Amino acid sequence: MLTFALAGNPNSGKTTLFNALTGSTAHVGNWPGVTVDKRVGTYKKSHTPIDIVDLPGIYSLSPYTPEEVIARNFLLNESPDCIINIVDATNLERNLYLTTQLMELDVPLVVALNMTDVLDKRGDTIDVRSLEKRIGLPVIEISALRATNVDELMQRAVKSVGAKRKGVSVLRESAIGSAIANAEIALKLKEVEAPLFHAVKLVEKDELEVKAHPQEAKAVEAFILENCVGVEDAEATIADARYKYITAHFSSTLTRARKQAYDELSKSDKVDKVLTHKWAGIPIFLVILFAIFHFTFSEDLLYLGALIKPFGEWCGVEGGIAKGVFFSGGLNSPGVMLFNAVELLTGKIGELLGVGLTALGANDVLIGLVCDGAWGGVAGVLSFLPQILVLFLFFSILEDSGYMARVAFMLDRLFRRFGVSGRAFMPMIMGFGCSVPAMINTRTMADERERTATLRVIPFFSCGAKMPILLAIAGAIVEKTGVGNADIITYSMYLLGVLVALASLLIMRNTTMRGDASPFIMELPAYHMPGAKNLVLHLWDKAKHFIQKAFTIIVASCIIVWFLSNFGWNWKYVNGAMQTSILASLGQLIQPLFTPLGFGAQLGANGWVFAVAAITGLIAKEDVIATFGTLAGCLIGFAVGGEYEEGVGEVLTMINATGITNVGLIAFIAFNMLTIPCFAAVAAARGEIGKGKFKWTLLFWLVTSYLVSTMVYTIGSWWWTAFIWAAVVAVAVCIIIAYNKKADKKASKN
Ligand code: GDP
Ligand code: MG
Repeated sequence: MLTFALAGNPNSGKTTLFNALTGSTAHVGNWPGVTVDKRVGTYKKSHTPIDIVDLPGIYSLSPYTPEEVIARNFLLNESPDCIINIVDATNLERNLYLTTQLMELDVPLVVALNMTDVLDKRGDTIDVRSLEKRIGLPVIEISALRATNVDELMQRAVKSVGAKRKGVSVLRESAIGSAIANAEIALKLKEVEAPLFHAVKLVEKDELEVKAHPQEAKAVEAFILENCVGVEDAEATIADARYKYITAHFSSTLTRARKQAYDELSKSDKVDKVLTHKWAGIPIFLVILFAIFHFTFSEDLLYLGALIKPFGEWCGVEGGIAKGVFFSGGLNSPGVMLFNAVELLTGKIGELLGVGLTALGANDVLIGLVCDGAWGGVAGVLSFLPQILVLFLFFSILEDSGYMARVAFMLDRLFRRFGVSGRAFMPMIMGFGCSVPAMINTRTMADERERTATLRVIPFFSCGAKMPILLAIAGAIVEKTGVGNADIITYSMYLLGVLVALASLLIMRNTTMRGDASPFIMELPAYHMPGAKNLVLHLWDKAKHFIQKAFTIIVASCIIVWFLSNFGWNWKYVNGAMQTSILASLGQLIQPLFTPLGFGAQLGANGWVFAVAAITGLIAKEDVIATFGTLAGCLIGFAVGGEYEEGVGEVLTMINATGITNVGLIAFIAFNMLTIPCFAAVAAARGEIGKGKFKWTLLFWLVTSYLVSTMVYTIGSWWWTAFIWAAVVAVAVCIIIAYNKKADKKASKN
């Protein structure tokens, strides 16, 4: 089996090409460095299948970033049969800088000139024949996005496999060429593999190389001192020589259609003048975020119903299916329309299940198990899928267009005060989707301390699975009080999560993780239209995952919850008397723990359901509302009449059964949002950070969620407690400042 490696700068289109070759659904973003994982796929259109490895994006093969080390080690140690070097044709010179380094390896190498569609559009041309001759490598024009010429690329690559390629260097004629030749001879004598590559690195005084060959390193240094006049810094000389060679020999192959290229660049710049404005940039970002929430969650699109009264009244008029789906008290947002449609569907399925089972003569226990236990929970969760997808569609568009990279850049200055760099932004935003990939993405952060801090706050960026909790409870509060908008409640809860994250970062930075953030260097790609295919793939990936989870973990835990809440310790069916069930007695046991949070002992006879839901949430956050769904079916005696949305009706049932206050409900959301995330995320965190830090992380999540929800509940119920909390915070701040002074003194003594 052959193995080909894809190497290239960040954003040159490696992942896009990887997907085109392997048909995999790996996520493609605009973020330099998303590809830190090694991704492997198989290309099947050749005689023998070929393994394709998507290497992390790199600008050079120096040992400065984890990406560079990963890519370098792979190329040197795993000896791929061919390297496909992806070159972004719209940034030819900068991309060829890496090519001049890859050339020095003794591995077959072909250049894939990518983004030629953009080149065409601009009217620029590259003389491929001439470039091929000058660079001495096969050069194939492709467009990874449109999958043009990729099979030709693979044919050329396969052809190059047999030929024994020897590394060549563009540095031969440079001031330092003789030193490289000298080092190469020394390494050849030692029978080092890829002697030319190592020779160059040795001359560069590359850390890893000097460690590997200390004696030769000394000799090379002496040689340079004696023979290479004017070379003070070998590394700088080499970089300079590479660029000079590229400009002198390769640049002329590119002919620009001057004006057009300039126009496109200036268009991007013009947009940036507004979107990344010094002080308006971040407010604009917040407004964009709110607009996204509005289009996803609002039942009164653009507040038309509220502003134009007759329109609102007309929308409120009773009607059939159309009314249920499209209008509430105004026009529904696209997200809500989809939600309603799916809800109609799941409701019908539930009904049919009941009717079918009755017709088959099933007994009450079985019908309860299937309709309330399994389907009730799953349906409650599935209804939220459309809104999650709509939210993700918006996020993906922002990401793929290049806007998110700019936000990271804008936030870098602000983030530094919190001890992390702009790099932390991407994992945080991904956290709104799912904490698991977000935690894995923290690998792009070079600094260990920064990485742990970021990983710890990721769960505070409320993930898609927590959305049902927010929506169902916000919906129930609006329904019960008749005031407020669900989008405003959800938006504020998301903001609360973000604020808690920032506060935690600040505290960590001043206590356990002192020090400054690592520098953040990033180039901003020009804005461009996101590809529909990528968006669809990304959304499908999300949906698949969500549906799988609904029908496996969620069904299983719903059945367990149903069983525990319908059977007593004597293994007898309790037949509606849920207070005597196993679950009730377990719930009552832990219920007092939540008293300070507003959903503990102060609640009525059935108050334990909140404690139970918070615990089942540890399996998967969807379980919180799914548990309500299952229990509401059992509590049917308390059920509220009328038609309510999936989830909302269940929460209303819970409110009626327990007498929980609105503030208690908000505290309940806060607790679930901030506490230990689901099993999967906990496992990911364990994998990403060491055992010692992991224990503290768990404790950190527990304490933070408990404190913040207690604060929410007490201040919300008795406003004057705000003063007590303010005093507590003031004392804590004083202690931290004192601790810092002492630590600084100690540091300056050393
Ligand atoms: P990577 O960082 O090297 O993995 O780059 P990606 O595959 O993530 O691509 C970066 C961006 O460039 C994505 O938004 C792609 O849609 C876009 N892109 C990749 N290849 C092409 C191409 O051939 N033409 C155009 N127009 N865009 C491309
Ligand atoms: Mg990539």
